[in-house]
Amino acid sequence: MAVSTTPTTGGNARPARRPRGEGQWALGHREPLNPNERTKKDDNPLNVRARIENIYAHRGFDSIDPADLRGRFRWWGLYTQRKAGIDGGRTAVLEPEELEDKYFMLRVRVDGGQLDLAQLRVIADISERYARGSADITDRQNIQLHWIRVEDVPAIWKALEEVGLSTTEACGDCPRVVMGSPVAGVAADEVIDPTPALDEIVERFIGDPAYSNLPRKFKSSISWLADMPYEVNDISFLGVIHPEYGPGFDLWVGGGLSTNPMLAQRLGVWVPLAELADVWEGVVGIFRDYGYRRLRHRARLKFLVADWGVEKFREVLEKEYLGRSLIDGPAPELPERPIDHIGVHEQADGNRYVGAAPVVGRTSGEQLRRLADVAEAHGSGRVRLTAYQKLLVLDVAPEKVDSLVTALREIGLESFPSVWRRSTMACTGIEFCKLAIVETKARGQQLVERLEQRLADADLKDADISIHINGCPNACARTQIADIGLKGQLVMGPDGRQVEGFQVHLGGGLGMAEGHKAGFGRKLRGLKTTADELPEYVERLTRRYLAGRTDGE
Ligand code: SF4
Repeated sequence: MAVSTTPTTGGNARPARRPRGEGQWALGHREPLNPNERTKKDDNPLNVRARIENIYAHRGFDSIDPADLRGRFRWWGLYTQRKAGIDGGRTAVLEPEELEDKYFMLRVRVDGGQLDLAQLRVIADISERYARGSADITDRQNIQLHWIRVEDVPAIWKALEEVGLSTTEACGDCPRVVMGSPVAGVAADEVIDPTPALDEIVERFIGDPAYSNLPRKFKSSISWLADMPYEVNDISFLGVIHPEYGPGFDLWVGGGLSTNPMLAQRLGVWVPLAELADVWEGVVGIFRDYGYRRLRHRARLKFLVADWGVEKFREVLEKEYLGRSLIDGPAPELPERPIDHIGVHEQADGNRYVGAAPVVGRTSGEQLRRLADVAEAHGSGRVRLTAYQKLLVLDVAPEKVDSLVTALREIGLESFPSVWRRSTMACTGIEFCKLAIVETKARGQQLVERLEQRLADADLKDADISIHINGCPNACARTQIADIGLKGQLVMGPDGRQVEGFQVHLGGGLGMAEGHKAGFGRKLRGLKTTADELPEYVERLTRRYLAGRTDGE
């Protein structure tokens, strides 16, 4: 129990006040302090699956208890989707039931982004049969389907689980998909493939009621290479070689974007592969027990890390959760620029992997089915999803690469894309998201097309200008860490009326070596554009940058 240390002064002084709790369970604050905490306490969200299978799937949407519908369904990857035709100006004023449709978005977790062809074909089949052909690759290596009816959810789960996929804890206040390097196990410069540890975490802890009620979402990544945005996760492990103990992993905690963005911090420890899962469990245990549950907007792990500092965090992890000291470790080597794996690359075994780009992560059941056929025809049995809404085909013999690249192009996946197609991402936006203020996916597709035309004459060479389009301040597509980060909001149009537009963040970046430090883009007051003017805006910005850039920039 926390004890106040505030002194009292003399006989008339009021008794010392107990500091206001932040809702930390470990300090005795077990009574729910907000409606979300109440919902989780009333019934473990994982239990909603039985109600979906036994009741809601038979009685339909209108039979669903609101606390399940807008709360616990998330633990099984289900969100109600936005009703068509409601403009962004009404997002904040309508009640949830006025905003939502009777269909769901369903998020399929793809831990490590790893899919075999049977899994890819099952997702394609579900998309075509139950999701009106929809399928988006998210920037966390998931696949999102739309237009799902509650009646179809049990059949979808059955199909997914038969091939080893699931939607368990794909959303909600729980451990989300565990991200991994899309080239784990094949990369020429990987020293240890961390996939066994990633699999162990999923096997041991996903769907475990002991970790299904966290203060907020918990985002993880495990990779040897720094080929994903590891600094914005609650926990990240990155490959590093210890001078005495050899290859292992460097531990980072407390990253997160949205409001109050913070970069993860190194704890300065070296963790061998065999201990990754236990250390992961220790960190998620700290979050569960000491995380702030009073206010949702202060509940992510980053706030606890910011308040405690890394020394205290490490001490609590060692003493209370692991019962032993961790080994001090060196900092990992970081690349000079983000690695997205697009194009043709040699694997450790001499085969090739080919990274290809859909536009802003939008794909379809038909395209995924054809992708499986193309991969199979070229001798590959594995596809990977990236943290940049792109995909890879692994294990291609060198002599089959050209044919594969052509076949991918024929189905709309480009292995040698323009800088715009390669580096533009978009969140779900107003098409389906209830929190959105602006449209993102279609706008992203148009933007890529128009920039390819308008800047066809520009000497872009090796410029990688990332554009991240977000439909609201929540930053699902990582607004703050793009060269051009776009945060959806209403802005003043030319005729003085409010229209869809974006606040612009400039110059963010991640995954950089010394001298190219990671950091958030600058949000400048007044730096806004209407959505209609976005292509011209980016064109002007790019031309100015190209004219002024120095050698090697
Ligand atoms: Fe929805 Fe906003 Fe996230 Fe986009 S950034 S998916 S609009 S919550």
